[in-house]
Amino acid sequence: MSATATDGKIIDGKAFATRLRGRIASAVADLKARHGLTPGLTVVLVGEDPASQVYVRSKGKQTVEAGMNSSEHKLPASASQAELLTLIARLNADPKVHGILVQLPLPKQIDEQSVINAIDPAKDVDGFHVVNAGRLATGGKAMVPCTPMGCLMLLQDRLGDLSGLEAVVVGRSNIVGKPMAQLLLGASCTVTVAHSRTRDLPAVCRRADILVAAVGRPEMIRGAWVKPGATVIDVGINRIDAGGDKPRLVGDVAYDEAYAVAGGITPVPGGVGPMTIAVLLRNTVIAACRQAGLAEPDL
Ligand code: NDP
Repeated sequence: MSATATDGKIIDGKAFATRLRGRIASAVADLKARHGLTPGLTVVLVGEDPASQVYVRSKGKQTVEAGMNSSEHKLPASASQAELLTLIARLNADPKVHGILVQLPLPKQIDEQSVINAIDPAKDVDGFHVVNAGRLATGGKAMVPCTPMGCLMLLQDRLGDLSGLEAVVVGRSNIVGKPMAQLLLGASCTVTVAHSRTRDLPAVCRRADILVAAVGRPEMIRGAWVKPGATVIDVGINRIDAGGDKPRLVGDVAYDEAYAVAGGITPVPGGVGPMTIAVLLRNTVIAACRQAGLAEPDL
């Protein structure tokens, strides 16, 4: 493998997220001391999906470690949409709850978008509410989806000013691809959004100074698709059977090939993944400050 930790190509999201969580903990301590405000995050989990349970535990643990209030509401997999909407209405009205996150996916009897749109947009720390999507698209004060915001922070940390750069986002989901494209546009990149119907995807990718892969297909993006010196952000998390006891975690980018060509690249694991929860905590602090009418800390 060509990757060495000393040539500066690896974009270490794990280390960045640790530093971000440190800044968040300081901001929370300051809010408590100066304003008696403890930001609070509530996570709602419906059903027993094992991956969701792991995410929810990890979110709760990191929320508490940052000095914030954390609570969890668990509903059975058989819960009705009406039950979930009643819970959300209660959380919307609770002044101690500043952020509400409904863990996705939801069981099939429940319409996800209706549930997301029932959350008070001010408490929508996932940034999936249609009002927040609209604000992001129109340059307003949005709650911004965590994973793409984490990608933007890594890019700005690595490259500084992004204006004028060619950015290609592969994937157009509402939770990653589209908000990522909006954020890059907001940072004055020239943005192309590619998807499953895109013609000659390798040629489109080769245009990119910034290449963001959010596809969900293991190692689909090859080294030959990467422009020399480009910055590659791999959002993909794919579990593949590597013949051992445990599945191997790989991204949407063929890492070793892309590493050889790129100027910077996020590994999987340890790249974008750790940023998502750190930005969730950041969003909760921002939400708490906005709800209390306080200035937002610079995080
Ligand atoms: P979706 O399945 O919702 O979207 C995938 C997108 O990729 C779609 O827009 C689809 O196009 C496009 N696509 C699929 N196949 C191809 C192809 N052959 N060529 C070009 N485009 C293609 O996925 P998500 O956006 O939710 O997630 C993407 C990846 O990111 C997944 O691996 C997921 O696990 C990971 N992820 C990681 C997070 C993290 O914390 N690091 C958080 C969220 C997601 P079309 O619209 O035309 O179907």
